[in-house]
Amino acid sequence: AVLGQTTDQTSDDQHLVLLGEDVSVSDIARFDPTQLVAIVCLQGSALSHSAVLARALGIPAVVATGPIDHIKNEDAVIVDGDLGIVVLSPSQSTQSAYATIVEAARSFDESLLADKDLPAVTKDGFRVQLFANTGLLADVSPGIKRGAEGIGLYRSEIPFLAHEAFPTESEQYQVYHTILTAYHPRPVTMRTLDIGSDKQLPYMNIKENNPALGWRGIRFSLDNRAVLVTQLRAMLKADIGLGNLQIMLPMITSNAETREVAAVLDSVVTRLQAEGEPVTRPDLGIMVEVPGVIPLLRGQKEWIDFISIGTNDLTQYLLAVDRTNPRVSTLYDHLHPAMIQTMADLAKTAETLQLRVSVCGEMAADPYAAVLLIGMRFPALSMNAFSIPRIKALTRGLTVEEAQICLTDVLTMDDPQDIRQRVHATLVDAGLDHLIYRGASPEPSEVGSG
Ligand code: PEP
Ligand code: MG
Repeated sequence: AVLGQTTDQTSDDQHLVLLGEDVSVSDIARFDPTQLVAIVCLQGSALSHSAVLARALGIPAVVATGPIDHIKNEDAVIVDGDLGIVVLSPSQSTQSAYATIVEAARSFDESLLADKDLPAVTKDGFRVQLFANTGLLADVSPGIKRGAEGIGLYRSEIPFLAHEAFPTESEQYQVYHTILTAYHPRPVTMRTLDIGSDKQLPYMNIKENNPALGWRGIRFSLDNRAVLVTQLRAMLKADIGLGNLQIMLPMITSNAETREVAAVLDSVVTRLQAEGEPVTRPDLGIMVEVPGVIPLLRGQKEWIDFISIGTNDLTQYLLAVDRTNPRVSTLYDHLHPAMIQTMADLAKTAETLQLRVSVCGEMAADPYAAVLLIGMRFPALSMNAFSIPRIKALTRGLTVEEAQICLTDVLTMDDPQDIRQRVHATLVDAGLDHLIYRGASPEPSEVGSG
């Protein structure tokens, strides 16, 4: 479906490639996720939210393609998300070559599923909990199917983006209750609304010069108390009789923000109890995704039970690189030495402060980064459901000692390419290079294989 050339009506048996100048999260949410097979757009980058959502659906996305206005509705295309290419009107031989690649990927994924119920534990006994990131109802069952131990990040804004207006308390309740029930008794970390930046509500019309530095996440919620209160009420009521809800706050930059939301949460609990609802106060945590909050964590502890590191935004704000801007996408790298050092420091800080910690950005799903995160001894990683089996196989095939030796070397390096090469050597030595995504290897000769 070429956006702008089509209505949203599609016949039931169609395989849809969604294609447009800019494919937003709202665009994706308008289509039936079971029909979507790929996303192609001129704008954006691998870390824009449309790409993150495509990963959650387990479908390829190719972004920043260059002109696409010559492509018509109904044209046949092959979308290769691993190599970042789109093949127009593919020949018979190209089609059969890709059929082989798709089948190999499918049977590889299937083979990894055999270990779905085994714990992610390194050969020397370090246990890593693996959680799923979700946001659509369609991505709930992929996580359960792949052995997710809970939801580490539920992006509550996704249903808001698919709506025509703010969803009501009871509409939100239905969605939250479905998710909490599906995962019960496993924990579900629901993040309060994180709109703004590249997740603009179609019914708000907010225009800003620097939206990534603007009115997003908790800033929006604190300025729109009624929206926050409605959301907290819906979450708390959805948790009645279950008790597996945790609440997490996005874009926290100051202690005052956390203190204020904690007070709002307390008053919502008290109010609901007065209304006769048997709600309990869930654990509260924050996203660590703005570098400025890192020195404040000791003080934050007064109000929070856990932190989760959002590496997508942390990379963007630490390196001052817009995560959605293709012009600077080569500068956006979670293996940048400043990110590695910051993550290593955060793991130590969390341990010193005895704060429960997880990593919930895309970094956790990257085998290269995962080796380093295990070397840092992060006890929990949350990622798109489709990456869980791969990261579990990686964890089970490695010792923490090997990962730490690699990390120690990496911490002396200043070039992301050298870092990638160094981790690559560790993966090869451990016999785990088959887990590297096709096209992600730093060795040019291997690109395109596998
Ligand atoms: C992050 O910033 O790393 C994150 C997990 O949140 P989002 O990608 O939704 O901004
Ligand atoms: Mg974020």
